[in-house]
Amino acid sequence: MTNLKSREIRLKNRPVGMPQPQDFELAETGVAAPKAGEVLVRNIWMSVDPYMRGRMMDRESYIPPFQIGQPLQGGAIGQVVETGPDSHFKVGDYLQHMLGWREYAVVGPMALPQKVDPSLAPVQSFLGALGMPGLTAYAGLFRIAAFKPEDSVFVSGAAGAVGSVVCQLAKARGAYVVGSAGSDAKCDWLLKTAKIDKAINYKTAGDLNAAVGSAFPKGIGVYFENVGGAHLEAAINHMRIHGRLAICGMIEQYNNTAPAPGPWNIIMTIPKSLRIEGFVVSNHFDLLGAFHKEMGELVAAGKMHWQETVHHGIENAPSAFLGLFKGENSGKMLVKIGPDKAV
Ligand code: NDP
Repeated sequence: MTNLKSREIRLKNRPVGMPQPQDFELAETGVAAPKAGEVLVRNIWMSVDPYMRGRMMDRESYIPPFQIGQPLQGGAIGQVVETGPDSHFKVGDYLQHMLGWREYAVVGPMALPQKVDPSLAPVQSFLGALGMPGLTAYAGLFRIAAFKPEDSVFVSGAAGAVGSVVCQLAKARGAYVVGSAGSDAKCDWLLKTAKIDKAINYKTAGDLNAAVGSAFPKGIGVYFENVGGAHLEAAINHMRIHGRLAICGMIEQYNNTAPAPGPWNIIMTIPKSLRIEGFVVSNHFDLLGAFHKEMGELVAAGKMHWQETVHHGIENAPSAFLGLFKGENSGKMLVKIGPDKAV
């Protein structure tokens, strides 16, 4: 053991419906010394992501459930403060890994450590636009939806971590892009900074189906789905023939306690010859090289922007997570849980 203490967030109860603060517990624990092949990392940033809601349920999925009484897990970035024998990393390296929700992490190969270069971009961007959410946007738009520049693109959850990258990737290739988001401030950012063609505030638009219809007089070529429910129905109604729908997420349903009815208009997939395909980003890591190249070029050309909403302190990680379901984040929701430099 080291002499260090680490605070961490554990799952106290499996949430039913909307997660509550009391479903989480802050605990302090000792910190083990790194063994062979491991490093001790002082975490600086951690990510909260909507997919974590699914891991709070005890069910079989593409990723195992969180365990009650155990610390949660998720993307984090920190600095190596101590190395075990035979480690690939050295003290001072910045690592991205999967042991977030704690101040110190003993990181071995199972935590998927990857070195990040702080001279390329602020390290936390590797949890957002330059990391998993950005790759999700890239894989969903280009591989799953088979986007072509002549496609008109509709993006729900457009001002979030994934959606905002989808919007700008499609815009950079010359497409007509419409996004929907839950506030006027988010819509303003989409129009003025992401420079999309139209933004719909779905909370004030009234009839979402009519708003989507009037934004797409010639129909939708690609729909990038982050939300589900009424958004999916509206998209199906206005898809062009041979349109493609990339189903990335359906956050509207993550806290449902009973199954939601499917879109009533799924029958339109027949006459419109639509293709609807879901995907999980971890099956598309082979695109990382192409993704980094394109993002590097777009950032350099001033055509890729992102926002961050930052909560401070490990004790505030649950409220950051809960905020995702209330639309409290613009762009990537992050928690700063340690000093920028640990060594
Ligand atoms: P976001 O940054 O978009 O944050 C979540 C946003 O969802 C909120 O800010 C809010 O924005 C919106 N939202 C929350 N509740 C609702 C609701 N009931 N109805 C409509 N909108 C709602 O998160 P991410 O970018 O990280 O993720 C976006 C989607 O992509 C999620 O569905 C997520 O699960 C999915 N995802 C899927 C992956 C995959 O591999 N398939 C990988 C990563 C993410 P607003 O104010 O606009 O309502």
